[in-house]
Amino acid sequence: MHNTTRSQELFSAAQKLMPGGVSSPVRAFRSVGGQPIVFDRVKGAYAWDVDGNRYIDYIGSWGPAICGHAHPEVIAALHEALEKGTSFGAPCALENQLAEMVIDAVPSVEMVRFVNSGTEACMSVLRLMRAFTGREKIIKFEGCYHGHADMFLVKAGSGVATLGLPDSPGVPRTTAASTLTAPYNDLEAVKQLFAENPGEIAGVILEPIVGNAGFITPEPGFLEGIRELTKDNGALLVFDEVMTGFRISYGGAQAKFGVTPDLTTMGKVIGGGLPVGAYGGRADIMGMVAPAGPMYQAGTLSGNPLAMTAGIKTLELLKQPGSYERLEAMTSRLIAGILEAARSAGLPITGGSVSAMFGFFLCDGPVRNFEEAKAADTARFGKLHRAMLERGIYLAPSAFEAGFTSLAHSEEDIDATIAAFRECFAAVA
Ligand SMILES: *Cc1c(COP(=O)(O)O)cnc(C)c1O
Repeated sequence: MHNTTRSQELFSAAQKLMPGGVSSPVRAFRSVGGQPIVFDRVKGAYAWDVDGNRYIDYIGSWGPAICGHAHPEVIAALHEALEKGTSFGAPCALENQLAEMVIDAVPSVEMVRFVNSGTEACMSVLRLMRAFTGREKIIKFEGCYHGHADMFLVKAGSGVATLGLPDSPGVPRTTAASTLTAPYNDLEAVKQLFAENPGEIAGVILEPIVGNAGFITPEPGFLEGIRELTKDNGALLVFDEVMTGFRISYGGAQAKFGVTPDLTTMGKVIGGGLPVGAYGGRADIMGMVAPAGPMYQAGTLSGNPLAMTAGIKTLELLKQPGSYERLEAMTSRLIAGILEAARSAGLPITGGSVSAMFGFFLCDGPVRNFEEAKAADTARFGKLHRAMLERGIYLAPSAFEAGFTSLAHSEEDIDATIAAFRECFAAVA
């Protein structure tokens, strides 16, 4: 039987030391129930907990571990960099190297600024959108997550959207009021927001594939339509590729879909497991950023040599021929197995994958936006999550998160995972 005594002891102690016992909320397992597992170490496709149980990991530290955890080449490069110091607070050649790699890879990016997290990247890009256009309002989509800056913590949903009520106490009403929201995949709603706020909208920010409301893909024409609407209204388009960057393809979702935004935010994979975020885009817009221009944004540890090293090595590994073909084939086989297993247990399910990102909802499809995603059976998902955990499969502890595969997952791992799903769907049906 799955013994998690040590995890439970540590988590009980943690709850007295840190709010909710964690450093980031979803880790506390609140939405699936049960106690979180405390990790001891990670390697390749696996995580081991403090009780010695091994899990096949489909979170990969929420995205960064796309080459597998603790890849030997990343670790070796980090050892070498460590000897030269952890932080310079001064220019370093490694920044040029990673900047060049990002500019070469991501179609919209002509210049880039490194920061320390996805939140910081999105918060900075928001200031940049406003600085460049001289406008204050922005449009975001219901269910899309862009980090925890005030402006993005606006509860989506029609009534709340018009009232501009913030999603969290502590967010000023006036701040929330300049964030307009629309349902994902709904071009008409965006058109209407532009019509109601002429000359006031600085830009539109979106996840080009949604991973933070479960896994939701853009319908054909949606991204193209937003590109046209922003252009026609003198507003900027931002792709938040913190999750999709270097995961959907080497050039991100924008390369995959052939739609080029004005600005792009990145994080997760680009730091190879160390804290890195980045924002970049058209050179004329990036020229606004200090000290080239007047928009202030800075960071003590930004561009530090360790973080740059992990990012560079990770991108080098991903760039090797066949990486994305392998990820795509493996992940589509996994999701096909999951869907089939649920259906043979008689459960409603809908889901899919693109490259190394996948997800499913326990409801009939299609799911095109967050409202539809909410029809999913979250109670059953919670039971499924716990049953999978007991069989050594570590899934995101929420029905509204995407799953991630890595180059380290083997065909045997995928087979074992599908077999576990088959048993668990039967158990929760
Ligand atoms: C994770 C994520 C963020 C926030 O990044 P952090 O590094 O957690 O601050 C922003 N946008 C998207 C799309 C994300 O998936």
